[in-house]
Amino acid sequence: MKNYDVVIIGAGASGLMCALSAGQRGRKVLILDHSDRVGKKILISGGGSCNFTNLYLEAKCYISGNSHFCKSALSRFSQYDFISLVEKHNVSYQERQLGQLFCNGNSVEILNLLLEECRLSSVKIQNRCTIKKTEKDNCFTVKTKSEDYLAESLVIATGGLSMPTIGATGFGYEVAEQFGLNILPCQPGLVPLTFSKNDLENFSDLSGISVDAAVSCNGQSFRESILFTHRGLSGPAVLQISNYWQSGDEVVINLLPDINLTETIRQWQTERPKMELKNLIGELLTRRVAHRWLELWHHNKPVNQYNEKEINEVADIFHIWRIRPSGTEGYKVAEVTRGGVDTNELSSKTFESRNVKGLFFIGEVVDVTGWLGGYNLQWAWSSGFSAGQFV
Ligand SMILES: Cc1cc2nc3c(=O)[nH]c(=O)nc-3n(C[C@H](O)[C@H](O)[C@H](O)COP(=O)(O)OP(=O)(O)OC[C@H]3O[C@@H](n4cnc5c(N)ncnc54)[C@H](O)[C@@H]3O)c2cc1C
Repeated sequence: MKNYDVVIIGAGASGLMCALSAGQRGRKVLILDHSDRVGKKILISGGGSCNFTNLYLEAKCYISGNSHFCKSALSRFSQYDFISLVEKHNVSYQERQLGQLFCNGNSVEILNLLLEECRLSSVKIQNRCTIKKTEKDNCFTVKTKSEDYLAESLVIATGGLSMPTIGATGFGYEVAEQFGLNILPCQPGLVPLTFSKNDLENFSDLSGISVDAAVSCNGQSFRESILFTHRGLSGPAVLQISNYWQSGDEVVINLLPDINLTETIRQWQTERPKMELKNLIGELLTRRVAHRWLELWHHNKPVNQYNEKEINEVADIFHIWRIRPSGTEGYKVAEVTRGGVDTNELSSKTFESRNVKGLFFIGEVVDVTGWLGGYNLQWAWSSGFSAGQFV
């Protein structure tokens, strides 16, 4: 039996950050991971360029049963703290849209800087390790296939359920259950939505078309692009709204968010009266979408032949497209898992369980889910660092 101050299960974003933060305090830290390679999600993040944080970090960019829970960790270790670390390791980066920071090179640079910091703090990392059991007496015992470990603090950093093909498991939820912590229902987040049967017939052949739109659901709205796919809708605005969507909910899409179509049609009636409406709208929006919308829900004719009632009807079909998705594409493609370990069970300052001393939960396994745009990795860094100060 080997002794450590801290055993962390999960060598992903939050686990590595927690390890280096605890290691820097002089704690003897071991990380265990079942995967053949650590930090796999970091490697595939941001399309291989790792969108590692966002300049516009705010609590409102996180969804949780307790909207205040994330605040303490985000201020204890902010986007600027992570940027300092990135700069310390000479990783070059750029801001893309909406404050999103990406590596100019490859995500592996982010993983390497975390591994280097862990090495400097003498953190031991053991991958390809199958965990059989965790138990608590005075200390925690972690039983693995090859060895048993004893630790004062046990940190669960095993992430969520998304992308089981690269090693995601429900291990963290099982440990939470074992120790009697409440878990809020999990569902895929930042995930494409699928069309109902009827919508599939109407729109699946538009696959590949991207449109700038405003997408709304449950009081939340995102203004970015949407992408038609063979099975439904994807693209940043749809992924964002999927975090707020519940089964059965309607999603409302404004396909011309910058335009008042009623006024524009009136203007066309004087300036371009003989032009067909579908071609005029096709100039503002993708031609195929404009044509399909009129085929489905109105009729097409020269623009000067529309009366006031018809103008308003046409405006509504483009400004207020209502769909009721049949579901999501699920965990196999979702970027995150919504729900998880109930924040009421944890200290927002230390991430320690309120009832089980020495047991910590960090990262995505906790019921805190960020928007698309670097927010989820920042949550992993912030929660990992914060817990690392107390383990
Ligand atoms: C395709 C994709 C792209 C993404 N891009 C971005 C992005 O650009 N920016 C952003 O902010 N977020 C992004 N995310 C989300 C982000 O990667 C995660 O939110 C973040 O990695 C969560 O960190 P974590 O430490 O909680 O879990 P993870 O990073 O998932 O780490 C969990 C670790 O636990 C290990 N593990 C799991 N089960 C067990 C077990 N039973 N035994 C032992 N070890 C186990 C895993 O092998 C893994 O190493 C992306 C996600 C995906 C899927």
